[in-house]
Amino acid sequence: MKIHEYQGKEILRKYGVTTPRGTPCFTVDEAVQAAQQLGGKVWVVKAQIHAGGRGKGGGVKVARSADEVRQYAGQILGMQLKTHQTGPEGQTVHRLLVEEGADIRKELYVGMVVDRVTQRVCLMASSEGGMDIEEVAAHTPEKIHKVFVDPVSGLTDAEADDVAARIGVPADSLPQARSVLQGLYKAFWDTDASLAEINPLILTGDGRVVALDAKMNFDSNALYRHPDILEMRDLDEEDPAEIEASKFDLSYISLDGNIGCLVNGAGLAMATMDTIKLYGAEPANFLDVGGGATTEKVTEAFKLMLANPKVKGILVNIFGGIMRCDTIAEGVVAAAREVHLAVPLVVRMKGTNEDVGKKILAESGLPIISANTMAEAAEKVVAAVSAQ
Ligand code: ADP
Ligand code: MG
Repeated sequence: MKIHEYQGKEILRKYGVTTPRGTPCFTVDEAVQAAQQLGGKVWVVKAQIHAGGRGKGGGVKVARSADEVRQYAGQILGMQLKTHQTGPEGQTVHRLLVEEGADIRKELYVGMVVDRVTQRVCLMASSEGGMDIEEVAAHTPEKIHKVFVDPVSGLTDAEADDVAARIGVPADSLPQARSVLQGLYKAFWDTDASLAEINPLILTGDGRVVALDAKMNFDSNALYRHPDILEMRDLDEEDPAEIEASKFDLSYISLDGNIGCLVNGAGLAMATMDTIKLYGAEPANFLDVGGGATTEKVTEAFKLMLANPKVKGILVNIFGGIMRCDTIAEGVVAAAREVHLAVPLVVRMKGTNEDVGKKILAESGLPIISANTMAEAAEKVVAAVSAQ
């Protein structure tokens, strides 16, 4: 799950990380009022969407008067902000963060992810922070320093100081940089984050270390123990089909193609998408109905896929283990009837009660195309879709 910058900053502040003072706003008037309450002479009006690269896309503006705050808030609120992380259609801005302008002397980068190879939290840090960190990673990776944190000791003083010095934090600011890095690590650890990033982390003119941006993602499987974080969820930022899917405990991800796929098991779902691509078409979604799919769940899965106007055919690929093929077949038939299926449907099932399942499909009277292998199934669905 993702959250907004201002929410990430709220969390980081609890862990002793310094951020500019700021206020989340939903209207232009609120933005102007927020600037007046913050005081000072320079404010930054920032689009709050669940994607980075806002600065380059015109979603971060420095205002030097209340009039400018009004003007920028008006421009940004409601805009369709396109960044390298939103995809070409962009994301509508519903919220702003108005915060005090900082005096930037140097922009640094610090971020954390879970490294699967070492099974540790990896701290990455660079002196080259700011809006071009992707370029740094691609062309001068030696400028990114990494520390794989021992989960028993946590991020030690020595490690924090060493990495801070490497990214150019001057000696006077080292204690503050240390508390930022250790605070970030503690926040990451306590919240079951999957990513935490401060870009830029700045050195101010007077030597302070301040987080100007904050990005945090959380492991959805751990959210049950973080009700406070779950409250930060913003459904405006999420794909409506994926929200609907989560209500039925379906693992669903929208994609760009035109072949819907319904599969049990994440690995098989990935392999199914690959096979569709191998035969020259593109999947419209990833969908894992899981091990305990009921008729209701399969019906909801069909509804989800068919709500996407791009879908021109459906491929059902089931491996019957604990999940029996006849259960799935009954679900598929019931679902196809209920949704008045009008696009070609190819079903491939293997495993427990395969014969019973195939019989149910054949006797349903529905125009279901049966296939024995994954390759045959993909070939048939691609052919059926291209014949339209
Ligand atoms: P994004 O990463 O989505 O582009 P950031 O929050 O990093 O958004 O903002 C982009 C740039 O805007 C920063 O690199 C920084 O130069 C500037 N900026 C952001 N917040 C402030 C602030 N409070 N004061 C001054 N400059 C800021
Ligand atoms: Mg940033």
